[in-house]
Amino acid sequence: MPDFDVIVVGAGNAAFCAALAAREQGASVLMLEAAPEEESGGNSRFTAGSMRVVYNGLDDIKTLVPDLTEEEIATSDFGTYTQDQFFDDMARVTQDRADPDLVELLVTRSFDTLNWMRSKGVRFIPIYGRQAFKIEGKFKFWGGLTLDAVGGGPGLVNMLTAAAKKQGIEIVYQTRALALLSDGIRVEGVRVRQEGEVRELRAKAVVLACGGFEANPEWRTRYLGPGWDLAKVRGTRFNTGDGIRMALEIGASPCGNWSGCHAVGWERNAPEFGDLAVGDQFQKHSYPFSIMVNATGKRFLDEGADFRNYTYARYGRVILEQPGQFAWQIFDQKVKHLQRDEYKIRQITKVTANTVEELAGKLEGVDAAQFVETVAEYNAAVRAEIPFNPNIKDGRKTQGLAVNKSNWANTIDQPPYEGYAVTCGITFTFGGLRITTGGEVLNTDYQPIGGLYAAGELVGGLFYFNYPGGTGLTSGSVFGRIAGASAGRARAN
Ligand SMILES: Cc1cc2nc3c(=O)[nH]c(=O)nc-3n(C[C@H](O)[C@H](O)[C@H](O)COP(=O)(O)OP(=O)(O)OC[C@H]3O[C@@H](n4cnc5c(N)ncnc54)[C@H](O)[C@@H]3O)c2cc1C
Repeated sequence: MPDFDVIVVGAGNAAFCAALAAREQGASVLMLEAAPEEESGGNSRFTAGSMRVVYNGLDDIKTLVPDLTEEEIATSDFGTYTQDQFFDDMARVTQDRADPDLVELLVTRSFDTLNWMRSKGVRFIPIYGRQAFKIEGKFKFWGGLTLDAVGGGPGLVNMLTAAAKKQGIEIVYQTRALALLSDGIRVEGVRVRQEGEVRELRAKAVVLACGGFEANPEWRTRYLGPGWDLAKVRGTRFNTGDGIRMALEIGASPCGNWSGCHAVGWERNAPEFGDLAVGDQFQKHSYPFSIMVNATGKRFLDEGADFRNYTYARYGRVILEQPGQFAWQIFDQKVKHLQRDEYKIRQITKVTANTVEELAGKLEGVDAAQFVETVAEYNAAVRAEIPFNPNIKDGRKTQGLAVNKSNWANTIDQPPYEGYAVTCGITFTFGGLRITTGGEVLNTDYQPIGGLYAAGELVGGLFYFNYPGGTGLTSGSVFGRIAGASAGRARAN
């Protein structure tokens, strides 16, 4: 006799969406969370709650944010983020490798799924400031990322937890799934460790939504490559690849970019794992308005190649590849006002100076003489006659450098100068399990494994090399809802 119709492994965004969708089908649902309650919610709790969603103008935004004020409407230019734009972004940043069937679902269900989340009690707000700069009295949104969950990641997890409890979904904390119970054909439950004991819980269907392997240094080194053991983990320490391992152990098919991950520029002296008191504020994402130098004192990437949303997730890897795995971001006063809030926190490795030479001496680990030369060469190469505009890809570039900057290039000549030290922070891994468009996990013969579903980070095939900002939560919601509904329906069979 099963203990529950559906067991969902994990209690992050994907897991909650799966649990709520299964419950809608009339299933009894149990959620297993490895973390204690105060650390629950996985990486979802660490996020800003930003969600990429298709919208065709103000009316769609008003549907998702019905409490927008007249003042907000009058001072905002939301533009559009059409299905075509989302398709194009996914194709471009993944170099056309993303699974077209999964992308189709992600894009075409994004708006409907956020609306469904709203119906469950999740609230959204426009991302003023980080995704829109105010110019001539109006906030113009850019980069396809317009909405946050109210209260960011903690708010999102709290709203989803309240929704689950309201629906009678049971959540058990400090309960780690160890293995899937299977007769070789169907999954029949989960073996768990709870309060120092190993127990078996039976269910008609299991949804795996327990994250990637980013918090597992051994797997990172094994699959992402040498050096990845040295990356900092931006989020939860609980995502150690268990869901992927458990599924592979019963014959699931691996899928996607196993050597790829989402990784960003992250405070150099941040702790090994994320700290919920700081959240995502260790990131340093105003680099498009800076120059970045490595230990040799040279620039090594195009800080202005594209909007932050389309470069930040791959630049962590580039920083990891630098000598000593660090870089310094350099700003002057002309662009200081464009820095995001995360530059104002206390837990930061920051130096300031009144001359470039003085700054050079303060950048720990950097060849000072070469740094001074780099700034002089860079300043001379800026095409200052092109107008600077942070809301668009302004084409204000450098010319003639070994590594050019394509947009937002400003000379560095207005002191005090500031330097911020960053290293690589890994967010989540891209490789995972192969699923159908119904969220069923496939075996190595590409047949669905009876009773097994998956959603969220541990699904492979969506992201390769890079990722458009705000897609992780949206994909967790879209595929969580799909997997949960399938699992809920399967209980009746
Ligand atoms: C600092 C930071 C900022 C981010 N900002 C954004 C953003 O603004 N927008 C965005 O779209 N994405 C963002 N992301 C990415 C986003 O967090 C993920 O893509 C998304 O949250 C993944 O959701 P998930 O439900 O798949 O996994 P998670 O939210 O990580 O949930 C996994 C759950 O599984 C649990 N678990 C793990 N192993 C077991 C086990 N064996 N048994 C039981 N439970 C287990 C974990 O404790 C956790 O509850 C950010 C990530 C980080 C780290």
